[in-house]
Amino acid sequence: MGRTLTARNPRTGERDYSFAVLEGVDLETEALRLRDNQKAWESAGVEARCAALQAFKGALLANLGPIAAAVEVDTGRRKIAAMEVYGVAGGIDAWCAQAPHLTPSAWKDGITNPAIRHRVQWVPYPLVGVISPWNFPLLLSFIDAVPALAAGCAVVIKPSEVTPRWIEPVRAALAQVPQLAGVLAFAPGDGATGAAVIGEVDAVAFTGSVATGKKIAAACAAKMIPAFLELGGKDPLIITATADLEAAVNAALRGSVLSTGQACQSIERIYVQRPLYEPFVERLVAEAGKAQLNWPDIASGEIGPLIFDRQADIIASHVADAVAKGAAVRCGGDIETHGGGRWVRPTVLTGVDHTMKVITEETFGPVMPVMAFDGIAEAITLANATDYGLSAAVVAGTLEEAEAIGRELEAGAVSLNDAALTALFYEAPHESFKLSGMGRSRMGAPGLQRFLREKALIAQTGAPAPLAAFSEAAS
Ligand code: NAD
Repeated sequence: MGRTLTARNPRTGERDYSFAVLEGVDLETEALRLRDNQKAWESAGVEARCAALQAFKGALLANLGPIAAAVEVDTGRRKIAAMEVYGVAGGIDAWCAQAPHLTPSAWKDGITNPAIRHRVQWVPYPLVGVISPWNFPLLLSFIDAVPALAAGCAVVIKPSEVTPRWIEPVRAALAQVPQLAGVLAFAPGDGATGAAVIGEVDAVAFTGSVATGKKIAAACAAKMIPAFLELGGKDPLIITATADLEAAVNAALRGSVLSTGQACQSIERIYVQRPLYEPFVERLVAEAGKAQLNWPDIASGEIGPLIFDRQADIIASHVADAVAKGAAVRCGGDIETHGGGRWVRPTVLTGVDHTMKVITEETFGPVMPVMAFDGIAEAITLANATDYGLSAAVVAGTLEEAEAIGRELEAGAVSLNDAALTALFYEAPHESFKLSGMGRSRMGAPGLQRFLREKALIAQTGAPAPLAAFSEAAS
């Protein structure tokens, strides 16, 4: 008998779901099956692979009801749950539009010796492990799986143990596309399952925390396989005195509070130039106060429950640490319990500084610490004073002003005159800085190419050099 785990319902607090872990011999057998089928999947060609992915998209949308319902229970939110399903479908369309056009080079003459030519063959990693978090459990399980599959890899997905309910309805949809089911499987389980998956695969695409990312990097290094890591952030937003107040407030609030701040690219620190500071804080507090919980009616409000129980404790500890060091809570700030779930309203903190956890550590909640600055150089220094480098944002009076600041920020993607645009726009390649990640971009052409090894075919079109050409004897 294998292990069984249970999952907590974020709206009721009850552990009302149990699921079987895939591990041991069963995981090994599944990995072997995927490896066997991968060879035919690769040789079928990109058009055939995309046809199978499109059939899967059809099956996902035909099963939208049960899949979205499962994601809804996993995450305690309704509209965003359905958006996750549509997001996977959109990702399939986007990759299938690009993948056939991404081809390796034709024969090229050598520069140093034109008689020696070369071309590149792309060879997919046979089996890729995707390990995903709980905050967008379906979307972040497929965000790397789809390009890996389009590239010709087989994929095993290890979803978060916090949000496992969607796996069964997606498995049912997958069963309707046998060709894809041969090369895509799920390994439900916890961290130990993730570690076991790494033992079976040839490359890992991981989305999650820095702490786990470091363990995964070490495990992959021990096996000498690549780890593509998309980790946490502490994204800053700089607002200059020339910014439009309403635009700045809208960008800050949506960027921080969407999905209850449970998003890697959430704005977690706000720096406002002094002339705009007081009006900004006043307006932000007023607008933040209008946001409602989606409780008791899930089809209402903007603020869902905290999906992961322990995250509520982290948010509470960051707010308490800030208050103990002198910060003022201008709105929100309390962890509320309703019907067994835990919730936090948009929280604005002032009187904050860089000694506080709420400024230095990932909070992963709808918490907005706001600091004033005088000169732009000071704002850039403050924004860059972090171990993270996922993304950042600047709102200024003109695009030119915003861009000049954005160019100085140490982050993989900078939203200009808005915030958290990486959640809405998937076409721009970007690589994380500092502790926020490792490896090539998951967006743009590199998002697929990173699953392909470059193999060189080097051709002699003249006569092979004889050994005598390298003789030590004087010629
Ligand atoms: P987590 O690191 O706790 O867990 C992520 C996954 O790793 C889970 O599936 C977990 O079971 C697995 N895991 C845990 N230990 C493991 C081990 N030793 N070996 C292999 N797998 C292991 O992260 P989380 O709490 O689920 O997610 C929240 C974090 O994810 C936040 O830090 C957030 O910023 C980050 N995140 C990053 C991005 C991004 O694109 N950069 C997107 C979303 C979330």
